[in-house]
Amino acid sequence: MLKDFPLRELNWFKTGGNAEYFSEPQTVEDAQSDLAFAKKEGLSVNVLGEGANTLVSDSGCKGLVLHPANKELSLNQSSEGIVLEAGCGAIMQDVIDYALNNSALGLEEFAGLPGTVGGAAFINAHFFEFFLADFLLSAKVISFDGSLIEVDKDWFEYGYDVSRLHREKWLVWSVKFLLKPGNEFETAFAKGRAYEIIRQRSRRYPKERTCGSFFRNFLPEEAGGKVPSVAYYLDKVGVKGTLSCGQAVVSRKHANMLETKEGATSADVVGLAREMQKLVYKNFNLVPVPECRFLGFPSFPLYTKDTIDG
Ligand SMILES: Cc1cc2nc3c(=O)[nH]c(=O)nc-3n(C[C@H](O)[C@H](O)[C@H](O)COP(=O)(O)OP(=O)(O)OC[C@H]3O[C@@H](n4cnc5c(N)ncnc54)[C@H](O)[C@@H]3O)c2cc1C
Repeated sequence: MLKDFPLRELNWFKTGGNAEYFSEPQTVEDAQSDLAFAKKEGLSVNVLGEGANTLVSDSGCKGLVLHPANKELSLNQSSEGIVLEAGCGAIMQDVIDYALNNSALGLEEFAGLPGTVGGAAFINAHFFEFFLADFLLSAKVISFDGSLIEVDKDWFEYGYDVSRLHREKWLVWSVKFLLKPGNEFETAFAKGRAYEIIRQRSRRYPKERTCGSFFRNFLPEEAGGKVPSVAYYLDKVGVKGTLSCGQAVVSRKHANMLETKEGATSADVVGLAREMQKLVYKNFNLVPVPECRFLGFPSFPLYTKDTIDG
């Protein structure tokens, strides 16, 4: 257990303060002992993966931040297909490479997706029509009381950018994916597809100091029959490559991606995101909702439908 640990290098924006307590559990027992410590000391607990979808408050994060180090990967054949189990701290691209090198197909649709297995399971990571839930069979999860249970996909209550983990605190410890066995030709094709997806991503998206799409698309009930793509509205208001706040700027490549420059603060990112919300609201009467998660902020730092007029 470490105290006053800097989180700046552990998130993609490279901003934010320190964690009051910080630990990198490698085993279930390590995680249970960390959670017991937090309970005894009355500390709040938060989980951080690769920080590819997280903005850390400039004043840091009170309580304990868990940065799981379980990166184990294993494969088993089943009557349904190949079952790949991945530790929550494993980097998604490493899991995809491991799967493809063992002729286990499916996850290549997420090639180039930054972040860990835990982060992807949290948000039901998606790329075009593919969602992580399409491949997730079951998972081992640890309650913040320390009990380990195995749950199936339905337990997660997955939707677009949402899961049960958005309302209940659980540590995803490992995930089992059900993948399709490929022959030599199919595996070579899948490897080529992964390569092509990564190439496309690097052309269309910034590669560092961003969290990818900052706002999620509007749900049908929010859009009220209008276009659901939030980038559509952000493009229309003309923020791409121009709008900035301090050292945070809207990417030149994508109107829904924010980037930080050297010296940026998380307050710069928040200021820019709020300005983007105001512009979309003023012009289209819609309030963008962040996909990005906030760590250590005393309250939700952006506008909501209820606060944007204030
Ligand atoms: C350039 C770029 C492109 C991107 N493109 C896409 C894309 O195409 N599709 C997409 O869906 N996302 C995309 N993202 C967002 C990001 O890749 C995903 O959200 C990813 O799943 C985040 O993983 P992470 O480990 O970094 O999570 P973090 O940012 O560390 O955490 C995100 C959330 O997950 C929770 N969490 C993390 N690990 C666990 C765990 N073990 N147990 C419980 N909760 C956990 C955290 O508490 C937090 O609430 C992109 C990001 C970048 C930077």
